Amino acid sequence: MTDALMPLYNRAALDVDRGEGVWLYGRDGRAYLDCVAGIATNALGHAHPALVAALTDQAQRLWHVSNLFRIPQQQELGELLVAHSFADQVFFCNSGTEAVEAAIKTARRHHYAAGHPERIDIIGFSGSFHGRTMAAINASGNPTYLEGFGPRLPGFVQVSPDDAAAIAEAIARPTTAAVIIEPVQGEGGARAFDGVFLQQLRQWCDAAGVLLIYDEVQCGMGRTGRLFAHQWFDGAAPDIMAIAKALGGGFPVGACLATARAASGMAAGAHGTTFGGNPLAMAVALTAARLLAAEATLAHARAVSAHLFDGLATLATAYPDVVKDVRGKGLLIGVQMGPNNREVMAIARDHGLLVAGGGENCIRLLPPLTMTLAEADEVLTRLDTTLADVRVRLAVAA
Ligand SMILES: *Cc1c(COP(=O)(O)O)cnc(C)c1O
Repeated sequence: MTDALMPLYNRAALDVDRGEGVWLYGRDGRAYLDCVAGIATNALGHAHPALVAALTDQAQRLWHVSNLFRIPQQQELGELLVAHSFADQVFFCNSGTEAVEAAIKTARRHHYAAGHPERIDIIGFSGSFHGRTMAAINASGNPTYLEGFGPRLPGFVQVSPDDAAAIAEAIARPTTAAVIIEPVQGEGGARAFDGVFLQQLRQWCDAAGVLLIYDEVQCGMGRTGRLFAHQWFDGAAPDIMAIAKALGGGFPVGACLATARAASGMAAGAHGTTFGGNPLAMAVALTAARLLAAEATLAHARAVSAHLFDGLATLATAYPDVVKDVRGKGLLIGVQMGPNNREVMAIARDHGLLVAGGGENCIRLLPPLTMTLAEADEVLTRLDTTLADVRVRLAVAA
């Protein structure tokens, strides 16, 4: 059945049929508790009635016109994002990697417009993931994404988040344009950077006239219990930020946010997109963003997170041979495994629990922010059963 598709994905043996809230149903009628949520994307669960209504209403009105015309919902969503963030201006696109691409172009163009075209270097961190376009794989801190796609592009520098001296030195170079970092690394294995580290980056960038880019494609839009992950900390706001994933609650959409100063080079014609910010995406994302930005939603996400972290600490104590670490922030949770994470994911699936993989042999829990405490308990119960089964099936010594 998949012969007609490029074999790019390691797909689970599960033919999906429909979803409702935190539940995903297979063609075979089996129900799965979905802690993948389309990779941190269906933050309001599957088939949220308000999103279904927004999509179907807009589908009957207008889908696509291109950016040659004014799109009122685009204006409205831009204003909402500006009102809830450090940013003054927004550019809409269709995916996370396009948002990162726009962020990098915004940064370079800022320096170009300021009379410093030599400032092109983008400093990225090991363990990071920024998407799959050519710029994004070059900014990402995982060399396997670059393999076979030609030489590393000029203008991209990699540093380790654990090497403060190297970071400071790289930022201070006269050819540096920007630093790009996920405040909480997603694909890398749910590594949350602390406020002190992000504030230090902010200070080094300010001192050198370098722009700070946050990739909140995965950790943003409420996932950590604040609308944006960096909002947990004062004095750590970026100049530019890429978001996507949960922005559309499951509908493809991305955005690049920036201060007016950082966006100084983005004049008419400098960048663009045919589909980005189309009425269909904007209608759904506007509805999703209003719900995700609501304090009640964020407070609920924090409560569910605390509940899951409590339960995971208990499981880590009960299965020290299987669970090596529990980390992350909010509902971007990484559980580092002793045995192979892919095998653990398959066993979890047998127990009706869907979890994502992640770097450093993690499984990731990325449930909808709307998950109830009772559903979170069910996640913990199924994980308990899974870990017991992992011991038996993978012959882990207890
Ligand atoms: C998923 C992700 C991307 C890429 O998003 P796509 O929509 O797949 O292009 C970029 N950055 C981060 C942090 C991500 O998690």
